[in-house]
Amino acid sequence: MAIATVNPATGETVRTFEELGEAELEQKIALADERWRTYRTTGFEERAACMYAAADLFEKEADLAAELMSTEMGKTLAAARNEALKCAHGMRYYAEHAAGFLADEPLADPSRVGATRALGRYQPLGPVLAVMPWNFPMWQVMRFAAPALMAGNVGLLKHASNVPQCALYLESVFLRAGFPEGCFQTLLVSSRRVESILRDPRVVAATLTGSEPAGRSVAAICGDEVKHTVLELGGSDPFVVMPSADLERAVATAVDARVQNNGQSCIAAKRFIVHTDVYDAFTEKFVSRMRDLRVGDPFEASTDVGPVATEQGRADIEELVDDAVAAGASVLCGGRRLDGPGWFYPPTVIADITPGMRIYLEEVFGPVASLYRAADIDHALEMANATDFGLGSNAWTADEAEQERFIADLEAGQVFINGKTVSYPELPFGGIKRSGYGRELAAHGIREFCNLKTVWIGDEGASS
Ligand code: NAP
Repeated sequence: MAIATVNPATGETVRTFEELGEAELEQKIALADERWRTYRTTGFEERAACMYAAADLFEKEADLAAELMSTEMGKTLAAARNEALKCAHGMRYYAEHAAGFLADEPLADPSRVGATRALGRYQPLGPVLAVMPWNFPMWQVMRFAAPALMAGNVGLLKHASNVPQCALYLESVFLRAGFPEGCFQTLLVSSRRVESILRDPRVVAATLTGSEPAGRSVAAICGDEVKHTVLELGGSDPFVVMPSADLERAVATAVDARVQNNGQSCIAAKRFIVHTDVYDAFTEKFVSRMRDLRVGDPFEASTDVGPVATEQGRADIEELVDDAVAAGASVLCGGRRLDGPGWFYPPTVIADITPGMRIYLEEVFGPVASLYRAADIDHALEMANATDFGLGSNAWTADEAEQERFIADLEAGQVFINGKTVSYPELPFGGIKRSGYGRELAAHGIREFCNLKTVWIGDEGASS
């Protein structure tokens, strides 16, 4: 894919960018390596001062950042503005807590290991490559960059090819906030160049957020190179509704959980599994609300759902819906692309899905909801877990025993009861199964790219 800003609401190419040449790429990796050797010795206070300044910039420039996001990938301006503010919040969170998260972990009784003092100490690893997706073009980067920089690592960003202006903006924020040159660099390169960067000995680890094939490729190369990776991949999150749920709230949340970010969120609820006692009532309300959503220009304040981010993305959605319909699924609303310029696809609800259909197993990355009828909680759990993914999960029930059952038995990295899956800086985020491994955010996210060094200090002259 060429590196370019192509407005998904119009299909118009706004700006194209030259890929970095080999010599320029070499210069940037060399700078990252050199910078890390001094940056790693800075203290938390110094790093935090820059991180707070970066958060201030994000807040001050939220409108500009939002405009870049909406232009490049089509999310509504209001959602984009919230994303910019969320970035500022995440940066402040790590500026405030990094020192605590990475404090020494002393052994209470070092004599048990024959030492006078023994502890675990977190140290930075070096230059880390982040391969990032376009769907939350600033927040996805921030949840890597804020902890990585606060830990004393330096970051190299290979962003998705359709959000180059967001990528360059992020680099400029860190520079203007006072981080030394080379602490955070954007590499305008295509995915073909990722392998050579990963194999460069100066790049010590990688994190990828994106699709399963991209994750598999990066993990295989890093496995070969014995480099640490974090993978945040796709999801096909279940949203289970039981009879005791507050149906009005469940429906309103279900709609939001499916169409947030124009339906293109890894943790969007994608499969709605509804107990048979409330299936008809839920379906009627859900379809009616999905049908009423306003699809249109992301810059219009009245728009609920903007375009799909890429032409290929819309074609992928159509393929999955058409495959299901051809095999007997019912379309309760939507189901056909909107005419006119731009890559619009309407909120869609599909029912009567059977295991042979692709939509049963694959992730639909757009505003398409799959409906399933469950006979009881066992059946609901069986369907919820009938997926290779395991990112988020949602269950609605007022019954505490059922809540505990969902917490225990939903196969996912996170479970939200009577709500929708959301990423917060304060909570660990990640998946199991083919949704990836490792954790972002909270204390776990900052420790991913650290060497937990075991320190053992004995009596002078004593032997171990
Ligand atoms: P994608 O095609 O995998 O792209 C993601 C990033 O990987 C881009 O920078 C892309 O670069 C790069 N890339 C693609 N193929 C690669 C390869 N073979 N080797 C190295 N890098 C490669 O995914 P997407 O379509 O942008 O994003 C949608 C997917 O991301 C969905 O599956 C979604 O669920 C997942 N996602 C997961 C999370 C999470 O936290 N778990 C969050 C957001 C999205 P180019 O653009 O240059 O191809």
